[in-house]
Amino acid sequence: MKTLPHYLNGQLTSDISERYAPVYNPATGEQSAQVMLASADETREAVRIADEAFIGWAKTSPLKRARILFKFKALVEEHADELARLISSEHGKVFSDAKGEVTRGLEVVEFACGIPHLQKGEHSMNVGTGVDSYSMMQPLGVCAGISPFNFPAMVPMWMFPIALACGNTFVMKPSEKDPSTPLRLAELLSEAGLPAGVFNVVNGDKEAVDVLLTDERVQAVSFVGSTPIAEYIYATASAHGKRVQALGGAKNHMVIMPDADLDQAVSALMGAAYGSAGERCMAISVAVPVGENTANRLREKLVAELANLTVGPGLVDGPDNDMGPLITGEHRDKVAGYIQAGVDEGAELVVDGRQAAIEGAGEGYFIGGTLFDHVTPAMRIHSEEIFGPVLSIARAASFDDAVTMINSHEYGNGTAIFTRDGDAARQFCEQIQVGMVGVNVPIPVPMAFHSFGGWKRSLFGPLHMHGPDGVRFNTRMKTITQRWPDGIREESNHFSMPTM
Ligand code: NAD
Repeated sequence: MKTLPHYLNGQLTSDISERYAPVYNPATGEQSAQVMLASADETREAVRIADEAFIGWAKTSPLKRARILFKFKALVEEHADELARLISSEHGKVFSDAKGEVTRGLEVVEFACGIPHLQKGEHSMNVGTGVDSYSMMQPLGVCAGISPFNFPAMVPMWMFPIALACGNTFVMKPSEKDPSTPLRLAELLSEAGLPAGVFNVVNGDKEAVDVLLTDERVQAVSFVGSTPIAEYIYATASAHGKRVQALGGAKNHMVIMPDADLDQAVSALMGAAYGSAGERCMAISVAVPVGENTANRLREKLVAELANLTVGPGLVDGPDNDMGPLITGEHRDKVAGYIQAGVDEGAELVVDGRQAAIEGAGEGYFIGGTLFDHVTPAMRIHSEEIFGPVLSIARAASFDDAVTMINSHEYGNGTAIFTRDGDAARQFCEQIQVGMVGVNVPIPVPMAFHSFGGWKRSLFGPLHMHGPDGVRFNTRMKTITQRWPDGIREESNHFSMPTM
């Protein structure tokens, strides 16, 4: 059985751990590897290594740091297919989705390559007589990242390229469900010339995480995962004096106005609801058609499209399936349980993914695309995050009702409106209490040079991830006010400029 270790001080570790977790291929249900679960002491060792590497890395010129990231970008591009296969074999998403994830992660690396420009600081001359003032954006020290299973390449790449470019060292704790890709990224960083100890990967669970949240050498924690854990991470790490950005769960609605291009909206919904088997924090899980006529037409078109949705293994010879399996058998059962809960609460189950005939499914963790109609805000399938291929139609009588439905939800990660009416779109953007909004765009993930983050219980902490907020999060501002009275130059001639 292949064992996935940690990556410390520039190499894969060879020590034996006391605890392991199984890693599965979700398309077959077979165990493909076991991953080490770090003890508290092993995690502290990773922090010590990163702490020791900090002074040298922080003093490395920003341009030199950026050049290593440029090289890393080239290596990730070169190995993109290999990384995508690795993602698909442990996560289950189809190859093209996995490739897309690598590309989106790379965009953050590209942004990070330009960070010397953003870390220049500010300078004001003569703020008083003989007084100048300037601000420096210094790195923090050891930063930690804790990531979820659903984007094993992209979410770590939201975090570490910016932290490293700003001069921090890093300890990454990936999801124990698909840990191979972050380990491979660590190897590529070393190949790109990153000094040993600057980037480390600790595989593990709560025991490792708790060290990262409490060890005084860790200065900042970036987290992406479910809301209960995000809340715990934020409370614990903040109480230990760290800056924290903790991104949580989501329930994203798409409003379809009566004047929307319905074919465009349906095509967008199919990708946004069922892509990556709905295991995306920006997946649309609730369609909110405004008016009965819009709802009936939308439903009819969705049912027709669902009949053509191809579900199967993520890695196949020939054209990709539309959607792969879920991450684990346990999660598949949880999603199936939500489908039953929807039926029990009185929603109309229009297409039941539990019944889907899936070619080549074997023992894999598959569930087909599922559609509910007549879902109301009180139902659990509306109030809770399912994180599976389940789309609910929640009919709204008016634009205002749709906005109220979304604003009443505890999550506020992403949302979208499909309309031809500029006024409705503008009002929606202004009134909606959600962090990322699409207008005729179903999954409005901001580009790397903007920042990513939700509102309400989808994000704990003031700063979003990557983009300008990412640079602010990963640096500490120091402002120097200095005075060199006129007399000093005459008194100390050796400071005068040499004559040419
Ligand atoms: P999760 O919360 O179970 O795990 C996330 C990380 O936390 C993993 O590294 C895990 O090992 C660790 N962890 C789990 N339990 C812990 C505990 N008790 N104490 C300390 N650490 C713990 O999330 P997941 O199932 O891997 O990922 C799916 C969730 O992530 C969904 O809720 C999804 O919406 C969310 N997500 C959010 C975003 C976003 O940008 N807001 C992006 C991707 C995923």
